[in-house]
Amino acid sequence: MRNLILVFGDQLNHDSAAFDGFDADLDQVWMAENQQEATHVWNHQYRLVAFFAPMRHFRDELKDSGKTVLYNALSSDQSSDASEANDSSFATILSQTLSDHDFESIVFVRPGDYRVNESIHQVATKHDVAIDQREDRTFYCSLDRFDEWADGRKSMVLEQFYRVMRKEHAVLMDDDGKPVGGDWNYDKQNRGKFGKGGPGEVRPPVSFKPDKVTSEVIKMVQSRFADHPGKADQFDLPVTRDQALIAMDDFVDHRLAMFGDYQDAMWNDEMFLYHSRLSHAINLHLLSPREVVEAAVAAFKEDKAPLNAVEGFVRQILGWREYVRGIYWSRMPEYAELNSLDCDCDQDVPSFFWDGKTDMACVADSMRLLIDTAYAHHIQRLMVLGLFAQLYGVHPAKFNEWHMAMYADAVDWVSLPNALGMSQHGDGGVMATKPYCASGNYINRMSNYCKGCKYKYAEASGDDACPLTTLYWDFLDRNKDRFKDNHRMSMQLKNLERKDADLMESIRERSKKIRDGKIAI
Ligand code: FAD
Repeated sequence: MRNLILVFGDQLNHDSAAFDGFDADLDQVWMAENQQEATHVWNHQYRLVAFFAPMRHFRDELKDSGKTVLYNALSSDQSSDASEANDSSFATILSQTLSDHDFESIVFVRPGDYRVNESIHQVATKHDVAIDQREDRTFYCSLDRFDEWADGRKSMVLEQFYRVMRKEHAVLMDDDGKPVGGDWNYDKQNRGKFGKGGPGEVRPPVSFKPDKVTSEVIKMVQSRFADHPGKADQFDLPVTRDQALIAMDDFVDHRLAMFGDYQDAMWNDEMFLYHSRLSHAINLHLLSPREVVEAAVAAFKEDKAPLNAVEGFVRQILGWREYVRGIYWSRMPEYAELNSLDCDCDQDVPSFFWDGKTDMACVADSMRLLIDTAYAHHIQRLMVLGLFAQLYGVHPAKFNEWHMAMYADAVDWVSLPNALGMSQHGDGGVMATKPYCASGNYINRMSNYCKGCKYKYAEASGDDACPLTTLYWDFLDRNKDRFKDNHRMSMQLKNLERKDADLMESIRERSKKIRDGKIAI
C-alpha cells in the first residue's frame, strides 16, 4: 500500500489536510483507541466517552465514504483482550500495523500532544517508513505565522496578537481598517453579575441522547474503566458533525446575545449559563473555529446579538485559542516543566478535586458539575478550582495532569498553557502578567456561592474563615519578594503590608494546617 493516514481522536474532520490526495485503492486510514491515552492521566469516564464515541462515529462515516479504516477498539472486558491491548499505546498499535502491512509512508496532521507527536516519529523511524506531516489548517494562525509574530517580542500580550488576527482575517473589521464599533475590546461591558434573583431561566445547551454506538462506548468505559473518576451516565455531548452544528446554532440563537454581559458571573447549580459548551466539538474538529466565529459575526450583522457579546466570543476563539496553541508549540517541551513560583508548591491536588467532598460551596458546586459533565465554565476553572489550586500550592504540572484527566475538552496543547500558565502562573508571566490570585471576596462579588457557604468569605482566620481567604493572604505573604517589582501586584501587596502582625501569624498557622491536610475543609 501507499499511505497510512493517521487520524487522532481530536482530528475528526473530513476535510483534514491528512486526506488531501487520498486514493481509496492505495491508501488506508488508521485510528486507535488505546489503553495508554485512557490511563496516562486518571481519565474521567465522561471524558473517555467524549473521545471514543465521536471516534467510532467518524470511523463509520469514513467507511461509508468508501475508505478502509484500520481501527483499534477497546473492549469492555479487559481480561479478554490480547495482553498487548492492555498496555496498548499509539506507538505499540502503530508499530504492529506497520509490521503487519507494507506502507510506504504515514501521513498525519500534527497531533494535539507533544508526547504523542514524538512517539509517532520514533515509530516511523524504527520501521523506516517515510513521514508526511501536514499543517493543521483548521486553525487561523499557522505555527510559522505565530513564530514570526512572536519573534523578538519582549512580552507576548494576547491583545496585540488578537488585533493582528482580526486584521489578517478581516473579522469584525470595517473597510477603513478600523475595528467594527470603534473599539477592539468591549470587556468593560462584560463584567456583569446577577442580582438577588439570579440569572432567571437560562435555556440550557441542546442535549444529545446517546445512540447505539455511543451507548456501547458508555458501557465499555463504565466496565473497563470502572475505577476512574466521574460518571458517564449523563453523557449528552455532540458526537458527530451534524450534531455539533445543531449545538452551534443552538448557542448562537439562544445564549450568544448574553454571553458578553455575564461572561464572568457564577451562580449555584447553573451549569452553563450563557457559555457555549462548544469547546469539546471545536477541539475534536467536529466544528471549525472559522465557522463558529462566522456564525457569531453573522448573528451580530443580523442584529441577533450585540457587539460586546460577539466581540467577546470572537476574542476567545480567534484570540485566546489561537494564542495558546502558538505558546504551546513554540515552547514545548520545556514549557511543561515550568514552575515559576518554585512553589513551595509541590502539592498534589486535594482529594476533593476528585470526589467534590468539601464544605466550600464554590468548589463543591464547580466539582459537582465537573463530575457529572466533565465541564466547568471558564470562571469556575480559573477563579474557583484553579484559584484554590494555586493558593493551596499544587504543582503546576500536577494541576495540568488533573485538568487533562477531568475535562472533556482537554487536549494538551490547550490545557497546558491554560492550566500551568494562565491559571497557576507556572510560566512566570508568559500567559498572564500577574497571577490570578484573589480571596473569597472575589467569589462573593461574582456569585451567590458565599450566601450558602459554611465559611465566611471576608474572614481570614479562625475556624469559620473562608479557606480561600486564609490561603490568599498566606500566598501573598509567601511570594511577596517574588512579586515586589510587578506593578500590577502593588495594590495587593500594599494591602498585605497593612495586615496586623498577630493576624498574619494566625493566617500562616491556619494556612499551614490546611495545606498539610490537618484541617478538613
Ligand atoms: P465559552 O466560554 O463559550 O468560550 C467560547 C470558546 O472560546 C470555547 O469553546 C473555546 O473554544 C474558546 N476559548 C475560550 N477561552 C479559551 C482559552 N483560554 N483557551 C483556549 N480556548 C478558549 N479550553 C479548552 O478548550 N480545553 C482545555 O483543556 C482548557 N483548559 C483550561 C484550563 C484552565 C485552568 C482554564 C482557566 C481554562 C481552560 N480552557 C480550556 C479555556 C476555557 O476555559 C474553555 O475553553 C471554556 O471554558 C470551554 O467552555 P465553553 O465552550 O462553554 O466556552
